[in-house]
Parts: sequence; structure tokens; C-alpha cells
Amino acid sequence: MKVIGLFFVFVAGCMAAIGQDLSYYLPQQVSYDQRVPTPASVIGHEVGEWHVTHDRLVSYMKAADQASDRIALHPLGLTNEGRQQLVLIITSPENHKRLESIRQEHVQLTESGRSGSLSVDKMPVVLWMGHSIHGNESSGANASLLSVYYLAAAQGKEIEQVLANTVILLDPSFNPDGLNRFASWVNMHKGVTPVSDPNAREFNEVWPGGRFNHYWFDLNRDWLPAQHKESQNRLAMFHQWKPNVLTDHHEMGSNASFFFQPGVPSRVNPNTPWKNQELTAAIGSYHAKFLDSIGSMYFTKEGYDDFYYGKGSTYPDINGSIGILFEQASSRGHQQDTENGLLTFPFTIRNQFVTAMSTLAAANGLRKELLDFQRDFFKDVSKEAAGYPVKAFVIGDENDKARTNIFIEMLLRHEVEIFELKQEYTMDGKSFKAGSAYVIPTNQKQFKIIKTVFEKTFEYKDSLFYDVTAWTMPLAFGLPYAEVKTLGSLTGSRLTKVPVVAASQSLVPGAYAYAFKWNEFYTPKLLYRLQSKGIIAKVATKPFRTMVNGKEESFGYGSIVVHSGMQAVQGAILSKLIEECARETGVDVYALPSGLARGGVDIGSSSFVVLRKPEVMMFGGVGTTAQDVGEIWHLLDTRFHVPVSIVDVERFAGANVGRYNVIIMPSGSYHNLGRSGHDKLRSWIAAGGTLIATEDATRYLADNGFTHSMFKGSDEKKDSTIQLPYYLRMDEARAKDMAGSLFAARVDLTHPLGYGYTNPQVTVFKSNTLFMDKHNGAYDTPVLYTGDPLQSGYLYRGYKNVVKNTAAINIDGMGTGRIISMVDNLNFRAFWLGTSKMFMNGVFFGSLIRP
Ligand SMILES: [Zn+2]
Repeated sequence: MKVIGLFFVFVAGCMAAIGQDLSYYLPQQVSYDQRVPTPASVIGHEVGEWHVTHDRLVSYMKAADQASDRIALHPLGLTNEGRQQLVLIITSPENHKRLESIRQEHVQLTESGRSGSLSVDKMPVVLWMGHSIHGNESSGANASLLSVYYLAAAQGKEIEQVLANTVILLDPSFNPDGLNRFASWVNMHKGVTPVSDPNAREFNEVWPGGRFNHYWFDLNRDWLPAQHKESQNRLAMFHQWKPNVLTDHHEMGSNASFFFQPGVPSRVNPNTPWKNQELTAAIGSYHAKFLDSIGSMYFTKEGYDDFYYGKGSTYPDINGSIGILFEQASSRGHQQDTENGLLTFPFTIRNQFVTAMSTLAAANGLRKELLDFQRDFFKDVSKEAAGYPVKAFVIGDENDKARTNIFIEMLLRHEVEIFELKQEYTMDGKSFKAGSAYVIPTNQKQFKIIKTVFEKTFEYKDSLFYDVTAWTMPLAFGLPYAEVKTLGSLTGSRLTKVPVVAASQSLVPGAYAYAFKWNEFYTPKLLYRLQSKGIIAKVATKPFRTMVNGKEESFGYGSIVVHSGMQAVQGAILSKLIEECARETGVDVYALPSGLARGGVDIGSSSFVVLRKPEVMMFGGVGTTAQDVGEIWHLLDTRFHVPVSIVDVERFAGANVGRYNVIIMPSGSYHNLGRSGHDKLRSWIAAGGTLIATEDATRYLADNGFTHSMFKGSDEKKDSTIQLPYYLRMDEARAKDMAGSLFAARVDLTHPLGYGYTNPQVTVFKSNTLFMDKHNGAYDTPVLYTGDPLQSGYLYRGYKNVVKNTAAINIDGMGTGRIISMVDNLNFRAFWLGTSKMFMNGVFFGSLIRP
């Protein structure tokens, strides 16, 4: 096998190169089509001279598309900040003429019933090149300028042959908003005279940094949950094409070298076939040869893994594709002193470009193997699925259709086939109803996705993890589900799109009161909308039953009542206003004809408490964890349209906080809150405020005398006679991490934090080693871990007993206010919807809690 043709001969170069022209990067002995504009002629600077901004990157992609008949630009959609996501489809002009038939034939490889008759002899291989999903790991996106120029402009038989055999889907920037944030930062600090001192501001971004998307989420964890626009736009294209190889260009610490997969063999997810790793290694031999040819250092099989399917280099592995992670030591600016000498931005870009080219060479060299692998993968999946003991999962919550839908929508994005439930189905005491539950048969093409989404894992080959160890999605979403062993005739028609949740009835004007139950996901959105329109709403702290349209309806704890007589608007204006808000949120509202209940409390009872509209402040900036702040911002803003003022910890002491009634203290160190900030927070709480703290912030509050929470550590006995070999030192420490596992807790359904829940058992995500003792007060620990809490995931042996019966949430009083200490992250990655309701209850009902 000829690994490096003449075509891919690069010039070996040192690390110290800055402001290079194209000759530094591109293969030698190749002529280039003059009609294709160079990157510099469009973006206004040489590649690597400045960090490319996203708008300039897009300008170049458009110019290359205009100039080259090898390129077709395909817009994917817009990011939160309105930046364009796009993919360039790059292949020979002949292939472009029959692109749709190439695509259709290619996708047939994934249809086990039809793929047998296909010949792969002449079939192009499909290669997705993806860049800089972490915006501050920008050498990838900058290298994409070179890849596009080269693929568009290089001349000769060799490139023509490569393009005839390959369809390249090139995504220049997986995270446009983050890329642009980072580019602005490093460019604004670059002077005429280069500075390479790691202490300099250029290399130390301000909070939150460019790694994340607009809401400060790590998009390289979102491929599976797919809760973000960027992932949703991208997944649609991924499944349209089902690439054979997908590359994911990242950066790592500045003192490292270059990493390419395969990663740590013992940490490959068991759902990934071993052949995938063999092909990854075969592709890796190309990277090695190419990097050898330019004299760059690299390593493999260490540090990174293929376990969590939410990452770009692992998601393809469960889809018959090969995901490849690249990690380049980061210059984190234009040039930086490192342990390995001066690391320049152009040097990092060149390694990324060279490995993009080695992947292209590998995809061509291994074309038939990759295509055969894809076909075999889906044939094997089909056999495995047919023999799987669970024939279908039935899932859905009749009390929360919106949350059910968000789950269903997530699966549809992965092309999972889902059917309506045709008739009522009962299993293990759980009952599922047609109209609010769905059937997911396991014997289907995307069986592997279904398996990883539903399975619980307890066994691991390794005790070190790069990311979470479990993600059992129905538990995360808090949805009732059942395993069906005999499918029978449960399935109705197939879902082609997400069902619409519509508020059913139109409301009669002039009713005595209007009410809605608190169980639906979007109830906080409805309540906030009503409150912001001046409607006075009360919450039921005790349940009641009443007649509505001749039928008795039960309203549980937390139901919201709008008494008509209390409102500034009346009659049809009032009913129309409520009806409109209900329609926008899909929540059913009931018109109550009378104040007299048939059971429970009457509408005039003091068990109904007037709610104040939440005026929410949240700590952010230095001292807090950007992702945790971002998750809460995303929840309040995008799900419920509740505005939140994010205030820097350092500014708090000087802020006018009298305007807030809820302050959120997300995970963080709060080392910089200062004495006056500290005192201000105390007096604000004492005056009646609700402080909600999560994870590390609960520890800060306990250590600083705000709360009485006590924490405990591992109960493992130290054996002083054991002598362990030194090389195990790091691994031993990391095995004690809690990378992310699922634990069962019991919630008091009568407590304001439990309003809207119907099942007292919830699944909490835990990724810290804070174990909080239950408070002494009988009512002060509304959410408590069970005596046997592990539901899925890795748990270090020293914590097995410690976590039992600890508090998930403690309440402390201070003056007339209260502190809600949530020791774990109830809003993890925007899909842990089973517990985010509890968090929202803190925001809306915190003021009801009397410690
Ligand atoms: Zn990264």
C-alpha cells in the first residue's frame, strides 16, 4: 500500500514559524488552480497570522464554493447568535452531477435488508471533516481554510482520483459562537511584537471562555442528548449522509504534543464493535506516517477514550462509522512558550491540516474496508436486535406530555423508529395510555442507540473515565417506562414528527376561577407569563377536587388558581388572556364554576397562597463554574422564558439586590465574594429572600456559617501495610472520582419542592463527591437518597455506604428567608428534566418553605 503519494509530500518544519504563507502548510510539487482564491485573498490575512473570525471563515467558504465545481455549499442552520452553520460537500464534478444517487446508494449500505446486493467496488467513501467544537481550540477551524483551498485548487491525476472516490463533508466550525468569542479575545491582545509569555492576558481568556456555545454548554457532550441547535442542525445532515469516517479536531494542554485515536483500549464502550477499533488503528497508521514526514511528535492509546456517545468522536462509533479524535497541543493564542519550546499557532494549524490529509488518504486507502464495515455493522446490529430479549420499550407520562415529547424528539433526531401506543398497556403496576405513550421496538436499524439510551450499566473494565459513566435517559427524563417481552399488537402508526402538545379547551368567560395542575413540564412558563401580565396567581398547598364541565377533577399540591374576583381584568378579556398563554405552553387550564370544593380545601381557604413573580438573580463570572451557570440560564431562558440577571460574584457587594426575591448560587468556589458581599447576602436572605445553591456552593455556604449542612468522606479504611507501585498513583486518585452516575432519591410530594411530581422516586445525577448529611429537622430534608441508591454507573467502593440515606436537598432558615442546598446538579446538560422541575419549584415556591 502506498500510504503517502507524491501528492501528500510535506516539508518538515520546526515549531517556530509565524505568519506563514501557504507554502509552509501545503504539500509540495503540486500545482494550484489560479481561479480558486487563496484564503488570504478573501479573509485579509494569511492563515495563522490572526485567528480567523467566523464571518471571515464563512466568507472564504462561500468564495471557494463560487470558484470551484468541486464544492457545493450546504447551509445547516443558524446558531443561537445567528451565525451560519454550514457544510461544504466536496467531491469530483462528475460525482456532483449524480450526488443524490450517490447519497441514496450510500445510505442503502445501512439497510441490512437491501445492502447485500450493493457493490462497493466503485462506491465513494463518505468522510466528514469536523473542526473546533470547542471554540478556543481553534487550530482545527483555521486549518479548514487550508483543506478547502487545497481540495478546491490542487491539480493533477492524484487529487482527481481521490475526489472521484470520496465525498467529503467539511464542517469548518462545529461551534461558531465559541470560535468567534475566542478569536476576538486572542486577536485583541496581539501586538506588533510577538509575546509568548504564558502569563500574558492573550493566553488566559476571561470567564466563560470560548470553549462553550452561547449558553456555555460543551457541545462535545451533546451529540447524544441533542438539546442544542448546533447539534440538531448537524445531526440532520449526519443521518442524511451516514459518513464512514468523522473527524473531530481538538486541542489540549500547551505542553502536550499531538494525539490521535485509538484511545485507551479498556475504555471503549462495549456497544462499539471491536472491528471499529481495528479500523481506527489502521487509519491511525496513516496519521503516524504523515506526522513522521513533518517530524511532529504524537501519541495514541492514552488519556482519551471512546466511552460516552455524546462526543463527536464516539457518536459515529454507534452508527456504523468511525469517529476520530485529534488533540493538538494548544498555542491558545499566536505563540506561546512551552516545555517543548516555542509553540506557534501556524505549527498547530499545520498538524491539523496534515492529519486531515492523512485521514483523506486513509479513507481512500481503506475505502472498501470502511464501506464493508458499515454494511456489516448494520447486518450485525440486525441480528443482535432480533435476538434481544426486550422487544420494545413503552414510554410516556400522561401527566407530562411535553417532557415525554422532548424525549421522543431526541430519539427521532437519531432516526429511531417510534410508534403510537395503540391500546392501554399495564406492566408492573405502571399504566400507559394511548395518546400519551409511545412504543419503541428494539428490532430496528437504530437498535444500538435505543440500547445505550435505555440500558443501565454497573460493570466496567476500567475505573477511570473521561466523562460520565452512565446516561440512562428515561431515568434522566424521569419518565415511566416498561420493557415489553412480547410485542403483540401494541403499535399504532409510526411517528413522522414530534406530536404537538396542545392545550385542549377554550375557556368560558366569567368563570369563578381558572386553575391548572403543576405536573406538566411547561407550567413554570405558563405561570410566569400570567404573572408578567399582572395576573394574581395562588398556589394550592393542599389538594382539592372540584367539578369542571360536569366531571370531577383532582388538583394536587402545587396547582395554580387564578381567582377571577382578584384580577384587574375581567370577563372575556381575562379568559382570552389565560387561554392564549395556555395555548403557547400546551398546559390545560380548567374553568372552575364555584369556590366550593367537592373534596379538600375551598378556593377561599388560606391554604392557597399568593405567589410573587420571581425576580431572579444568578451569580456568574469568576468564582463560578460557567457550565453550571449556563445550564441554569438555558433552562430559565429557553425552556420557560424567565429572565435572569447574571451578576459577577465580584460585583455583588456593590449591586442593588433589593429588586430580587430569588438568588441562585450555582456551583463555584466563591473565593472572591468578599466580606461585604458575604454580609450583603446574609442580610438579603434574612429579609425574606430565597437562596438556591447547587453542588460546591452548598459546601461554601456550610463552611461560611450560612447553613448547618455537614459533609462526609469515603469510609474506606486505610491499610498502612500496603505498598502500591508508584505508577498507579494517578490512576488510584482518579478512580475515586465521581465522573457521573445515577442515584435514586425520595422526594416528599407534599413539600413545595415536590409539587407536580406524582412518583416519589426520582433519579438524581451525581458527579461530585459531596455527601451531605440529612438535617436534624424532620421537614428540612425534602429530598433524600435511598438506602440502596445506585441506579446506573460507576461508584467507587469507598462511597458505596457513604452515599446511602444522605440528603440530596437540605433547607436552612435565616431570618425570614431560607437557603435551599441542592448538593447535586439537577439540570445536567439540559436533559436531566426529571429533576429540573424540582429546581424550578425552588424558584417559584421557595418563598413558601418555612424551615
Ligand atoms: Zn476539545
